[in-house]
Amino acid sequence: MALSGIEIYKLLPGGLKPPHPKANCKECGFPTCLAFAMKLAAKQAELASCQYVSEEAQEKLAAAAAPPIRLIKVSSNGHEVAAGNETVMYRHEKTFFHPAGVFVRINDSDGLDAIRELVSTADEYKVNYVGMDLAVDGFAIKSTGDAATFSAGVEAVRGATKRPLILISADAAVMEAGLKAAGDSKSLICGASPENWEAMAALAKSHKAPLTVGGSTLDEMAELTDKIKAAGVEDMVLNPVVTTLPEALGVWTQLRRLALRKTFRPLGYPIIAFPSQFSADSQIAAVQAIAKYAGFIVLDRFNPADLYPLLVFRQNIYTDPQKPIQVSPGLYEINNPGPDSPVMVTTNFSITYFSVSNEVEGSGRKGWLLVADAEGMSVLTAWAAGKFDAERIAKTVKSTGIESKVNHRRLTIPGHVAVLSGELEDELPGWEIKVGPREAVNLPQYLKLME
Ligand code: SF4
Repeated sequence: MALSGIEIYKLLPGGLKPPHPKANCKECGFPTCLAFAMKLAAKQAELASCQYVSEEAQEKLAAAAAPPIRLIKVSSNGHEVAAGNETVMYRHEKTFFHPAGVFVRINDSDGLDAIRELVSTADEYKVNYVGMDLAVDGFAIKSTGDAATFSAGVEAVRGATKRPLILISADAAVMEAGLKAAGDSKSLICGASPENWEAMAALAKSHKAPLTVGGSTLDEMAELTDKIKAAGVEDMVLNPVVTTLPEALGVWTQLRRLALRKTFRPLGYPIIAFPSQFSADSQIAAVQAIAKYAGFIVLDRFNPADLYPLLVFRQNIYTDPQKPIQVSPGLYEINNPGPDSPVMVTTNFSITYFSVSNEVEGSGRKGWLLVADAEGMSVLTAWAAGKFDAERIAKTVKSTGIESKVNHRRLTIPGHVAVLSGELEDELPGWEIKVGPREAVNLPQYLKLME
């Protein structure tokens, strides 16, 4: 559990009884040990700035500073999926940091050619959403038979993708064959149970790979993570047995609370979810897993129609609610515009920008799009906050040099801010201000009428 400033102070030279001879020496850059302690508690100073803290105190402070949910990484060929290090129960409290890694499951019995084809297709899948490329994060290979079959299946997957892998088998000998076939990548071993944990922990240790820990109850999992940690494995992922949507929600919420509110270290690890195991509607289950609180999600099939909304949903959950997604302010060309092409203006909120540019681009019409710096807010929000006013729009017109690119002086503003047209004419003498549609979807028709 995080220590308060006073608790930290009691471990520093000034807080000892009797105080250390160097108490309040100011060498850390703060006037007193108490001031330094307060900064440490606020995570605005580094303990290393004081060289007079005893080893014992250092250990206590380091343990208190360790993240309540351990950061676990799986990686391969430059691709990495990280889970953990989360600090809040609810996204609006601060933000969620590490988006749940989405993996597609393959069975080693599917046939090697079919495996290669499916993995290649899923590996190439990519969608652009508000300027970001969304894709699957990796593949999970499940053993259905012996070590040779698993090894061949992992090799087939490895040959078709460079992304990280999750290897699924309860048999340590089979798992070892899979780990060898996976090569140098840092794969997630799935995994340990009360029956096989010693052999799985030995594999995780020798391959320096993270290990999932399964259990029917929280007590069972906590006991197991303690044993596995004692065996020398630090990187673990929790794999609680859940059979229904409500049960999954309850168990995962309990795990998050225990980690964050109680700093209960034995359960302070990310969670892996297999949506099809606890709901007939695996899409709904995957959505729940993304929202609360899976770090790794294994889908039992690759279906772009399911994947796209899931990845967009994940993106929305994991953006920082205090920082709107923005595009750079400036001048954007759509469909190679010329000097006669219309000039439009909008804000730099990503979704606003992409809504407008996609509509115009899709219509096949040419246009110049001025994107004003509205601190990442949408049109109406920015206008209400005073971030999208006549002065800012005029500044955008002048700073982008649009006047030298067109042979007309007509500027279309969003219909939602029609009220700005009078002020804009004062700010931009010689320009005719046109009021466009309120919604981007109506832009193609508006541009057609303008011709
Ligand atoms: S370096 Fe700072 S914290 Fe350490 S003894 Fe001196 S004043 Fe206290």
